[in-house]
This record gives sequence, structure tokens and C-alpha cells, in this order.
Amino acid sequence: MAERAATAPGAAAVAVIGAGWSGLAAAVALAEGGLRVTLLDSAPRAGGRARTIELETPLGPIAIDNGQHLIVGAYRQTLELIANLGAGGLLRRHPMHLVSASGLSVRAAPLPAPLHLAWGLLRARGLGWPERAAALRMMGGLRRGGWRAADGETVAALLARYRQPAPLVSRLWAPLCVGALNTLPVDACARTFAAVLRDTLGAQRDDSDFVAPEAPLGALLPDPALARLRDLGATIRLRTTVRALRPTPAGWRLDEGDDVFAAVLVALPPWSAARMLEPLGLDVAPLAAFDPEPIATAWALWPAGNAPRLPRWLMLDEDPARRLFGQWSFDRGVIGGARVAGVVVSAASRIANEPADAVAAGIAEQLRQAVGGPGPAALRIVTERRATFRCTPGRPRLSCDHYRSLAPGLWLAGDWTWPDYPATLESAVRSGRQAAARMLDSLAAPPAAR
Ligand SMILES: Cc1cc2nc3c(=O)[nH]c(=O)nc-3n(C[C@H](O)[C@H](O)[C@H](O)COP(=O)(O)OP(=O)(O)OC[C@H]3O[C@@H](n4cnc5c(N)ncnc54)[C@H](O)[C@@H]3O)c2cc1C
Repeated sequence: MAERAATAPGAAAVAVIGAGWSGLAAAVALAEGGLRVTLLDSAPRAGGRARTIELETPLGPIAIDNGQHLIVGAYRQTLELIANLGAGGLLRRHPMHLVSASGLSVRAAPLPAPLHLAWGLLRARGLGWPERAAALRMMGGLRRGGWRAADGETVAALLARYRQPAPLVSRLWAPLCVGALNTLPVDACARTFAAVLRDTLGAQRDDSDFVAPEAPLGALLPDPALARLRDLGATIRLRTTVRALRPTPAGWRLDEGDDVFAAVLVALPPWSAARMLEPLGLDVAPLAAFDPEPIATAWALWPAGNAPRLPRWLMLDEDPARRLFGQWSFDRGVIGGARVAGVVVSAASRIANEPADAVAAGIAEQLRQAVGGPGPAALRIVTERRATFRCTPGRPRLSCDHYRSLAPGLWLAGDWTWPDYPATLESAVRSGRQAAARMLDSLAAPPAAR
């Protein structure tokens, strides 16, 4: 359990705008640091882009995620926070096993790093010797080079530089790139991909673990974080859209409110933050330069007693030419009376103009081919149009104190303010915790030094 501070009556008041995972992580750290926290979010439910939704289906309503999320052992701060909030028991760890419908199988061996991966690649099924040797050569080369890539290099260029054979690219690297960066290799940032490989496949064995939740996303972090905040006396205002920030000599005010805050943390996606900050006369061009990229999740349901045997997870070999867009399938167990699987379509701008029926039919077909048995009785596709930023080499890199000199007391958080990583739960949590730590330090410092 983290150390908790009781909020002192004279403690500084701060506002956190946005109750996604970055804002929640920050708000908890600030409240535990003894500040008077007000957390505001326009949505009726906390969690932002990683939240629980109630989905109506022909087999009855289910509480499920807005989109299937993959959590890995490298999400150290996220897993630590979930555990601190008392929800660690909802997670199950499994050693990495990349397994695809068409027979690829790469398993982390029970050996110390980096042998776990080397052995796993050597023993891989579904890849020939040239592919296995090429994969090991690239991982070795990246490790020796400090996991760096050239400025502006794309993942496609990186794979070409390491002469990765086409079957290895299509069966392993491309699905990993699209799954982790939500961006096609031809556009994706090689440096970020290398950082992801460094911290998962290239790190300790348990960093590459798959961590499967046994509850919808809200129960992992948003709900317990709100409970912790209430315990610590924080004010929580959901269904409250903040439209404007007003700097005053005494501190920050929100919209027409009378409350004055010593500091404000804007924990919003870059496009929303740009809208909020532009009227302050700040240069928001770097924020506006982030492009959103959709992710679609198809929730497939079978009556619990009449479902095929579903693997815990499975890579589905996509084939856009045949309108087969599903990339990963995850078994979510029985919810209500239904067996539920989540099929992920990342980099989903590609399907924006596809008829929904055709996408659904393709996914049902992929499931039938991969797991056999009866096809799903129902399939509901949930598309998040602004799921992540497109993770390109040229995207801006900003820190939490980007506007510090022009707007003292104004801080930023959000997945896009953790420049090393793509848009993930871990970058959101890390960014929130880092901004909170810096804000706490700054408020403890004498006014002249802030
Ligand atoms: C479908 C989908 C699948 C994903 N898959 C994965 C995955 O497998 N693994 C992974 O790690 N990550 C995944 N992600 C990414 C991950 O969910 C995000 O990176 C993370 O949730 C971002 O958190 P955040 O706090 O930075 O932003 P957000 O979650 O966007 O939080 C911002 C909050 O601000 C609120 N808000 C906006 N404007 C205002 C305003 N004016 N006033 C008040 N409140 C406002 C919003 O309601 C929201 O709650 C996925 C995302 C989606 C959508």
C-alpha cells in the first residue's frame, strides 16, 4: 500500500482535468501527496479511452471494455498502481506465447533474459531457419546499438535495413508493430518500436508476460482510483466539461467557477488539450500536429453452452484483400450467459469506408477458420475513432512542463506526453505520475522558484 497523507486544511488546491488513466494516476498521487484535489471529466464514467461500457447484444447486455486492451509485464507502473489500489487480484500473468491461427508459435523459454527470447525464437514453429536467424540478428543488432533507430526512420525501413524476410515481417513484426503502435509499419516510428521491443521481448522474462484481466477495465483502475480519491477527501466531478482556463494573479480558475487552484493538470488527449489551451495565446501547433488513429473491437458472443474452444489469445492472420481485418482474438470468458471474445482491428482507418456488415462477416469467418465450431451468434463492433495518436517518427515530443515559462502552474499529462512510448496505458500512467511528482515538488518550492 502506498503511503497516504491526510489532506491538511491549508493544503494547496489543484485541479486535474481528465479522468483517463493519466489523470487518475496523477490525481491519486497528488491526493496521496496531501494536496486538495478536484478531478473533473466530461464523461459520466471515469477511464477515458480505457473504460467499461454496457453493451446491448442479442444475447443480453454485457459489461465489457470500450476496446480490448493488451497489458504486458513491462507495464510496471500500471501494474504497481493497480496493485496499490487493491485490484491486482483481477489480473492473471501468462508467459509470452505468440501464437497464430496459421501455425506461428513463439514461446518465451523458462530461461533468464535474453536467453528466454533467443531460445524461444530458435524453437519457434511456423518460421523457417532463415526467418529465425534474421529475427535473432535484428534483436541482437538493436540490443548492441542501444535500441536506437535513425531519426525519421520508419519500422518498414528498419526491417529492410536488417533484411528481414517477407514471411517474418508479415507473420511476426508487422502484427507486433500494428498491435503495439496502432500504426502500419510503413508509417510507424522505428525508434518507438525499438523501445517497445527493448522493454518487452528484449528485457526481463516477466516483462514480456501477457497480463489478462478477469474483469472489465473500469474495475482495474478507474473505479478503485475514484474510491481511493474519495477516501482522501478529493472532489470528483464527472459529467463536467471544462471549456476554458482562466489565469488570475491568485491561481487558475476553471470556466466561470469561483474556485482558485494553485496548479492545473490538463490530462486530455492532444486534440482536446489544444482546443482548451489555444485561447490562452499559447502555441498549440505541436499538440494539433498529433493525428488520431481508430481501433475497432468486434465483441463476438456465443451462448455459453454452445461455444467453440477459444484460445486465451490468438493472432489472426489478417488479409485485407479478402476483407479479413481481425488481427488478434482474446477470450474474455463467460459474461452473463454468453461466451465472449474480443477481436481487435488496429490501424482501423483502413476500414473506415468498408461496409460494417462486410467487416463483421470477415471477422466471423476468421473466427470460424481459427477456432472451428459454430460461428458467433452475435457480433458487435465498437469503433473508437480517436483511439490513439498515429505513432509516426515525426510526431512532436512534449514534456509535462511544456508551457512552464509561459503559463506557470499549468501542467500536461496524457499518453502523448511520454515520448518514448506509443499511446498505451503505461505511457498514460507514467505521464500522470511524473506530472504529479513534478507538480508536488514545484508547490513545495518557495514561490520564486516555481
Ligand atoms: C479501442 C482501444 C484499444 C486500445 N488498446 C490498447 C492496448 O491494447 N494496450 C494499451 O496499453 N493501450 C491501448 N489503448 C490506448 C490507451 O487506452 C490510451 O493510451 C490511454 O487510455 C490514454 O489515457 P489518457 O489518460 O492519456 O487519455 P484519455 O483516456 O483520453 O483521458 C482523457 C479524459 O479527458 C476527458 N475530457 C476530454 N475533454 C474534456 C474536457 N474539456 N473537460 C473535462 N474532461 C474532458 C475524457 O472524457 C477522458 O476521460 C487503446 C485505446 C483504445 C481506445
